[in-house]
Amino acid sequence: MANVLRSLRDCHCHLDVDVRVGDGRIIASHIEDLGRHGIPNRFFHLMSTNHIDILVLNEILGNLNENFVVPYFGIHPWYSHLFSELSRDDYASDEEYKESHYRKVLDPAPDSQLLDILPIPFSLEEHLKKIEQSCIKWGQKFCAGIGEIGLDKLFRIPTNGFYGNQSSPLKDTDVKLSPCRVTMKHQELVFVRQMSIANELRKPVSLHCVKAHGSLYELAAKRSQPNIPAVTLHSYSGSVDQANMWVREFSNKKSKLFFSFSNYINGVEGKRETLTQLLSKVPDEQVLVETDFGIEKYIKSPEKIQDYFQNLTEIFETIASIKKWSHENGLSILSTNSGAFSSCSVP
Ligand SMILES: [Zn+2]
Repeated sequence: MANVLRSLRDCHCHLDVDVRVGDGRIIASHIEDLGRHGIPNRFFHLMSTNHIDILVLNEILGNLNENFVVPYFGIHPWYSHLFSELSRDDYASDEEYKESHYRKVLDPAPDSQLLDILPIPFSLEEHLKKIEQSCIKWGQKFCAGIGEIGLDKLFRIPTNGFYGNQSSPLKDTDVKLSPCRVTMKHQELVFVRQMSIANELRKPVSLHCVKAHGSLYELAAKRSQPNIPAVTLHSYSGSVDQANMWVREFSNKKSKLFFSFSNYINGVEGKRETLTQLLSKVPDEQVLVETDFGIEKYIKSPEKIQDYFQNLTEIFETIASIKKWSHENGLSILSTNSGAFSSCSVP
């Protein structure tokens, strides 16, 4: 394995969207194979996003002997509509409960076809407990964080109800986008609750944001959450001015702030100018790299794993060239940063 991979860590990645409960054991064995080939400890900062991948993540951890994974537990904004703060007990039937919930959190309200395909919502309260318990259960052995959480103003519900819905009759190619968005009020409620858990348990957070940078800044930078050891803005897409505000705000805080950059969102040719401007505002010690990939399909194939490593190496090289770091120096900076970042999740 190339030297570069011994110094880098993937500070934000996922399981595939079609991952199934029961897949955890085999994924864990592929991860341990990579461990034998030299990836460093705490290499995969592995996010969960919904009610399915959190179960698989728990399975993976149960089958891993070494700490190659730092698990993150959370509800992603693309799945926040599936979780309800309403109480099932207040409704005569599941159908009534379901309709009230989705009418409340989706705008416009779903038509009968979409409503049909959406699952009976899960209790937000119970899922937050699951997030909290998972953090506590695995925190000692693997460290842990809260993620991927955040706000997304552009996201629309897919016509299969949610990405990865295995009980939808629609084939992937037939899935379109409905006009329905999750209200910002609901997204913010789910987000704030998870930030509180992070603050209470002293865990780092990995944040997603699309076109809601003002609100995210209010809720995650302005608001005092002094026990969160690190806040990571993953695949940052806000303005350069806003990035500067984040950096300034956190310079007075105990919590660390990181910007984690991915090849496919931040590294593409058309974004080079933006990335250059961004990096002029982000201090060296706050830079991380990530793939944001679903890792499963890569780690199980000896050919595809090379594409995966290539991707991580490329964003590193892009940043190093913009920052005018020498190769050696760049590796040492990122190794230090991801080490500092990983140790933020140590209990
Ligand atoms: Zn992500």
